[in-house]
Amino acid sequence: MTPGPRPHVVIVGAGFGGINATRELMDGPFEITLIDRDNYHGFWPLLYQVATSGLGPEDIAHPVRGMFGNRANVHVRLGTVSGVDLDRRLVHIEDEADVSYDSLILAAGSSTSDFGIPGVDDYAFPLKTLPDAVRLRNHVLTCFERADACPELVDGGLLTFVLAGGGPTGVELAGALSELIGENLARDFPHLDVTKASVILVEMLDHLLGGFAPSSQAHALRTLQAKGVDVRLNTAISALDVDHVTFKDGSRIQTMTTVWTAGIRANPLADQLDVPKGKGGAIEVTRELTLPGHPEVFVIGDISASTDHHGKPLPQVAQVAIQGARHAARTIRRRIAGRPTKPFKYHSHGMMATIGRRAAVAEIPGGLKLRGTLGWLSWLGVHLVFLVGFRNRVVVMVNWAWNYLSRDRASRVILRDDSSTPSGQHRA
Ligand SMILES: Cc1cc2nc3c(=O)[nH]c(=O)nc-3n(C[C@H](O)[C@H](O)[C@H](O)COP(=O)(O)OP(=O)(O)OC[C@H]3O[C@@H](n4cnc5c(N)ncnc54)[C@H](O)[C@@H]3O)c2cc1C
Repeated sequence: MTPGPRPHVVIVGAGFGGINATRELMDGPFEITLIDRDNYHGFWPLLYQVATSGLGPEDIAHPVRGMFGNRANVHVRLGTVSGVDLDRRLVHIEDEADVSYDSLILAAGSSTSDFGIPGVDDYAFPLKTLPDAVRLRNHVLTCFERADACPELVDGGLLTFVLAGGGPTGVELAGALSELIGENLARDFPHLDVTKASVILVEMLDHLLGGFAPSSQAHALRTLQAKGVDVRLNTAISALDVDHVTFKDGSRIQTMTTVWTAGIRANPLADQLDVPKGKGGAIEVTRELTLPGHPEVFVIGDISASTDHHGKPLPQVAQVAIQGARHAARTIRRRIAGRPTKPFKYHSHGMMATIGRRAAVAEIPGGLKLRGTLGWLSWLGVHLVFLVGFRNRVVVMVNWAWNYLSRDRASRVILRDDSSTPSGQHRA
């Protein structure tokens, strides 16, 4: 099915890559079909705030049709892409007719990697999607409700929260969870000894925030420790079970909650394509971000094993997806206009991670490093700018202001129709 006589660009995924590619192409002479398995664009950098009751799920999601619904040449489709026939230029969608393309932009993102560690798939909470965040929020709040009813369960690890992975997500989650417990749940549960709750951040390397400068890593470590987070560096998890974590040295921790932020791999859609793959199953691409031998197929963002102009692998972060999307869209436009195309060149905008209230590390290109309140304010500003949708920005800003002034995380809500564990059983 091709919507019209103009070149048809199919974009798979309405994440950071997909929406930026659509924006860049929609004023051009194209028919665009944007396909996503969800009807919203999710702002994943704030997912941990949904998991820790700081924001509601709708605050960080924006309906895709709301972004492009009034554009006659943008066709938004809800559907799960199950494969691509590269020779016949067809995209397969589960339970629906195939969609043909002249150009294809694959931007389906990533999924969690369990690194082959037994029990991760069954017992760990992933944090990649909105349902993941709501499930984790339900679970944490349910653990406190159960501990309030049966305090003897606390000794069995009911209020022990293990976070696997000391990257930005693990650090941000650790800071926010310790604040949720210390500031809100301590007030909500006056009869429970909340000091028995613990947040344990486990990292196999000897530092947090890989890729950041050593001074930022040390600052993050000190700040988390000051918040009462038990940070365990040089510690590797060897197995998970329903009520405990086992470490490589044979020691164990009783816990009902392990959040897995440690591993990332390409979206499973990559496995469906018979093309060369790199680390984590990510699809290898040319310098133009196209599939080797298929210049009409662009692969961008987390699903792509893209590199900088020195051949160094690029990280799986939003800026890489956004800039890759703009590059793919501009290349398509240049080709249509008969102009020469250019190789992809990535420009780093720096890195940042928040550690909690008035605490963050931000590294700006040129060597400037911001910490504490300044780092935190710059983190807030950048996230508000990139958050899609005026309403979302206002709601998030109001929530943050409310939280800052009152120390109240308003979304402490258990949605009972959602399961409280990754495997769908109520464990807590
Ligand atoms: C918890 C978390 C925190 C993060 N924090 C930061 C941060 O602070 N800063 C930063 O730069 N980066 C951060 N990232 C990484 C950043 O979000 C990603 O690098 C970025 O989203 C990649 O963009 P993308 O377009 O490749 O994929 P995504 O934005 O993930 O979009 C992929 C889209 O594809 C859709 N999709 C997937 N499979 C299919 C299918 N089979 N059919 C149809 N649609 C499909 C998904 O629904 C999704 O909408 C974070 C990620 C997570 C999970």
